[in-house]
This record gives sequence, C-alpha cells and structure tokens, in this order.
Amino acid sequence: MNLPVTIAGAGPAGLAAAITAAKHGRHVTVHERHSDVGYRFHGDYQGLENWTSTEDILEQMSAIGIEPEFEVAPFKEIVCYDPLGHEYVCRSSQPMFYLVRRGNTPGTLDSGLKEQALAAGVEIIFNSSCRELLDGGIVAQGPHRADVIAVGYVFRTDMADAAFVALSDQLAPQGYAYLLVHKGLGTVASCMFTDFHNEKTYLERTVGFFQHKSGLVMQKEHRFGGSGNFSIPLSAHKNNILHIGESAGFQDAFAGFGLRYAILSGYIAAESLLDNMPERYESAWRKHFLGLMKSSVVNRYLYGMSGNTGYTRFIKGIANSRDALVWIRNRYEYENWKSLIYPFARRKFGKRLSGMCVEPGCDCTWCRCHHEAHG
Ligand SMILES: Cc1cc2nc3c(=O)[nH]c(=O)nc-3n(C[C@H](O)[C@H](O)[C@H](O)COP(=O)(O)OP(=O)(O)OC[C@H]3O[C@@H](n4cnc5c(N)ncnc54)[C@H](O)[C@@H]3O)c2cc1C
Repeated sequence: MNLPVTIAGAGPAGLAAAITAAKHGRHVTVHERHSDVGYRFHGDYQGLENWTSTEDILEQMSAIGIEPEFEVAPFKEIVCYDPLGHEYVCRSSQPMFYLVRRGNTPGTLDSGLKEQALAAGVEIIFNSSCRELLDGGIVAQGPHRADVIAVGYVFRTDMADAAFVALSDQLAPQGYAYLLVHKGLGTVASCMFTDFHNEKTYLERTVGFFQHKSGLVMQKEHRFGGSGNFSIPLSAHKNNILHIGESAGFQDAFAGFGLRYAILSGYIAAESLLDNMPERYESAWRKHFLGLMKSSVVNRYLYGMSGNTGYTRFIKGIANSRDALVWIRNRYEYENWKSLIYPFARRKFGKRLSGMCVEPGCDCTWCRCHHEAHG
C-alpha cells in the first residue's frame, strides 16, 4: 500500500521525513504556514552537533539518504570563558560541531533541504497552515513553548573564523553566551534557560563581554531571537499521527541543540510509515533518543543548580580533557547514577516534561484540548 504522506511543517524534521518518504516512491505533501522555509531564522549560525553519537553527523545523514548539500564548516576548537572571564581553549581531534546557517537564503540548511525535497518530488505548499491531519500524517511544526530562548545579532565582520562560548549567570542565566564567526559573517547571542524578561540586559552584557574579550566588531547588525522547547513525551504517536522534531519535544534539554534530533526523528518516522507500521515509530524514537534525552535532562538539572562555581568546573573539565568531543560525549551517557537522579530532575520540570496530551479520547492533533499530560 503506497499511501500518500502529509506533513505539517517544512523545518529540518518535516523535510527529512519528506525526503525519506519521497525517495521511496511515496507521494508527499508538506504544508508550510510561511511563504518559505527557515522563516523563523535570520541567517544566524547554528551548530550541527557531533557529540550525541560516535557517528559523524554528516556521514550519518548521507547514510540515511539526506545529503548535507548546504554550507558546513567543521569546528574542532572552541575558546571558552569561565564566569570570571578566564580563557580556556578546548580542542578535539574530530569536529565538535559543523557550523550551518539557518534561514531561506542559498547555502542555508533549510534551503539545502528544501532543494533536496523538491528534487525528490515532494510537493511543498507554502502559506498553508495545516489545521488537521489524516491518519498516517506527520506533525513537524516546531516548538510550542519556550523552555529556552536565544537573543542576539547577526552581523558582518572582518574578524577571523572562530567559536567562543562564555558560561556565566551574568551573561546567560543557566545557559551560555556564544559568538560564532565564519567567512565574514557572525552570530552573537545569549542563550538562557531562565529570567527571560531580562533578555535585553543579558544581550547587552554578552555583546560588551565579547567586545572586550574576543575583539567583537559588528557591522550591519540585525537583531534576532527565538525559542525552543524540550520534553520527554509519554508518546510521540497519537491517533496514528506521528510527532517529530521539536514538535514532539525532541531536543537536547542541556544545551538546546535540536537539529540532529529533528533530522533523525523525521527519518525514523518516515521509515515506519514506509513499512506501513506507524506504531513502530514509538519504539524507534525511544531506542534512538530516550537515554540521550534523559541524560540531558539530568545534565540540565545539575547544571542549573551548580551556579558559577559549577560552570567553572565544567569548563575546566573540557579544557583539561585529552579530547573535548569525547569529554562532552561522555556527559551524555545515561549511566546508572543518572537514572537515580532522573526522578528528581523530572519532578523539577513537572508535567511540562511529559509533552503532548495522551488523554484517552483526545483526538486533537495539536493538543489544544487543555488536558494535562501525566507522568
Ligand atoms: C536562536 C536559536 C538557536 C538555535 N541553535 C541551535 C544549534 O546551534 N544547534 C541545534 O542543534 N539546534 C539549535 N536550535 C534548535 C533548532 O533550531 C531546532 O531544534 C530545529 O529547528 C527544530 O526543527 P523542527 O523541524 O522540529 O522545527 P522548526 O525548525 O521550528 O520547523 C517547524 C516548521 O513548521 C512550520 N509550522 C508550524 N506550525 C505549522 C502549521 N500549523 N502548519 C504548517 N506549518 C507549520 C513552521 O513555520 C516551521 O517552518 C536553535 C534554536 C533557536 C531558536
């Protein structure tokens, strides 16, 4: 049965699912509520992380048939600052992350995936806000809540290529401030997990900090901002409709890196539809993500409590390690001691960590029925 596939949302998750299903002969329609892809981004740099798997992300994408046909720049070195402004250089033998640009201009991750989807025969209907999906549909509409926000500037610069990260509650409460420069384009931002109302203050301090410490010089700067959500859903498969990417809450709760989860969840959801077994998606996402996400929730819980002293310990740990990538990767192992802490972390984040409503009888695709999720 070669049933058609309908997807709501043309972000990385929706497009990864679309490419996979279309390459296997399905007729795929993607509804995107904006006039193009990448609309909620502004040419800002993001990192396609390499630490939640030993498999290189670009090789993993190629292996699942999603070619990294967009601009990428590998980064093996990050300059980190502790809360007192002391500098540490963290290095790895393999890329810690690949820098990608987000938005709808040529070379961005979003336009690269769009071109690939169109070449595979996917029909993308823009300016089409999807309100209802039939059985076997995929929801890929992105975040629906702000558990983390990032505010910053995208700019032109003469600075050399580099990545800088600063950990300090004065710059980015319970999060991190970052400055990324590549080929004359830069992104500077404060990524915070609390105290969102004072975002302007944190951004001003972040810009001042990097001007002083890293020689930040911005030309033609544009302000940008965005939010993300994380949860560990009790189920990402509801009424035969599959939820993928941030729509399902798949996101690294520790650092707010959701791209890898988005692309992989899109792929595994499409695979289960190709097998005409949507229920398989449930066990597949658990196998791929559950341990990682639980570990990231524990990391977030401990990091949030640790304050500036803990951030310094964290930076020293990476900087003194033999290989920064391996050190970070080890922090995502769901070890026995983490499973003991997990219930406390879960309690702290409360019901919002459970994600979608799974009330029996609830049939709303978008979960606007106001039933609380349990768990
Ligand atoms: C400022 C910022 C910086 C970030 N930095 C990083 C980073 O460095 N590394 C990383 O891994 N992650 C990062 N993230 C997170 C990452 O961007 C997301 O996890 C990722 O984009 C999620 O992909 P998605 O496809 O699930 O959702 P989205 O990218 O949000 O795409 C969802 C799409 O669905 C569309 N849509 C929504 N509702 C409907 C509807 N009803 N009908 C039709 N279309 C709809 C939206 O318009 C959108 O195009 C960052 C996020 C922000 C905001």
